Amino acid sequence: MRNPDLDQKLAILMSLAADDREGLPPRLRHTKDVGALRPLNIRYLRPGPGMRMSLLRILMTNACSYNCHYCPMRRDRPMPRTLLKPDELVRIFLGAHQRGWCQGLFITTGIPGRPVKVMDDLIQVLELLRERHHFGGYIHVKLVAGSETSQIDRLTALASRVSLNFEAPCGKSLAQIAPDKSFSTTLHDFERVRSLVVREREARAHGRPTDPLHPGGASGMTMQFVVGATPDTDQSLLGTISRLKAAGGVHHPHFSAFRPISDTPMENVQATPALREHRLYQAAHLLDGYGFSPDEVVYAPDGNLPLALDPKSAWALAHPEQFPLEVQRASYEELVRVPGIGPVAARRIVDQRATVSLRGLSDLRKLGVVTTRAGGFLTLRGRRLQTTRWTEQLGFWAPEDDVGAQHIVYQVSPGTFR
Ligand code: SF4
Repeated sequence: MRNPDLDQKLAILMSLAADDREGLPPRLRHTKDVGALRPLNIRYLRPGPGMRMSLLRILMTNACSYNCHYCPMRRDRPMPRTLLKPDELVRIFLGAHQRGWCQGLFITTGIPGRPVKVMDDLIQVLELLRERHHFGGYIHVKLVAGSETSQIDRLTALASRVSLNFEAPCGKSLAQIAPDKSFSTTLHDFERVRSLVVREREARAHGRPTDPLHPGGASGMTMQFVVGATPDTDQSLLGTISRLKAAGGVHHPHFSAFRPISDTPMENVQATPALREHRLYQAAHLLDGYGFSPDEVVYAPDGNLPLALDPKSAWALAHPEQFPLEVQRASYEELVRVPGIGPVAARRIVDQRATVSLRGLSDLRKLGVVTTRAGGFLTLRGRRLQTTRWTEQLGFWAPEDDVGAQHIVYQVSPGTFR
């Protein structure tokens, strides 16, 4: 049955993600469906190679007592405000889930009033889903920094993944853009969740039985940073992330390129190129899955990742002594550092080269190598595979080309839903 009040609330909340870059605007989806579920925000997560999970991403409320300078939901910005009660949010999610539109849930929220009250509502959503409705699937929830320890523990026990918005890599820069937030409070809460995730993993490794209400267990926490809203460099961001990840329990960082939002103190600040956000994801990926250490990442003199080159190519060009690499003899660890060779292709080469005769680029392509990128860095039985490296063509394009002269001001930020 239709509920016009709920329809109205959802229309307001979902419009804050209408300009997100990660796919089709949500209002283009399910446009023929009627009722409260119409303006859905379904996005896709890739939990592992070849896997895909659909998530309903939803804001519990766009009301906020905080006044972060970059945020479309900041207290002083005039806009319609609304909130979903825990049972309304649960009803919306279960309706979408039963229709087969989504497998899991991602909840984020503004902070109207005290963090402990918002956390109570989040916990209530998760308790309703897990205990009353026996939903055992994926739930990702944004933790509100400044909550009580018992609330953090309860939320972490019920969620599949908990994330925290750091926004900036240190307290000094956080104070410039989010005067109501405390870096040390965020750090304290981060450490609590991280240690709970590590403890749960250890208990499972030692044979603790699966909780039927939480069958997936804790899948690691995430953290979010706004890129370019402060003068912090990519080197500083990745340095902070490496330190936070060192003790385990962290899945991956999220980056949101800063966008100037209308009617905010940062309306006239230049947008951060989306390419910078992309390069940070690539660099974080190298640190996670390719065996690179933080001090191997190559930065431009300004401390940022080069925009014109992906981080792996930048490293390869900075280390000519490592190349060309002989495909027949190179280790997995060496192969995976070649631009155009990922972990899957590197593993296939190592596993198959003794039994399969590799004759040239087309054979490597069949194993998953992006030969246009990798060819110039490889030899096969001593023979160069490509004389010109694709990277040599990059001189035709300057990184600043991506930073347009036009100043665009937005109504929403992709960070609203990350
Ligand atoms: S970033 Fe979060 S806390 Fe800050 S104003 Fe926006 S919703 Fe509120």
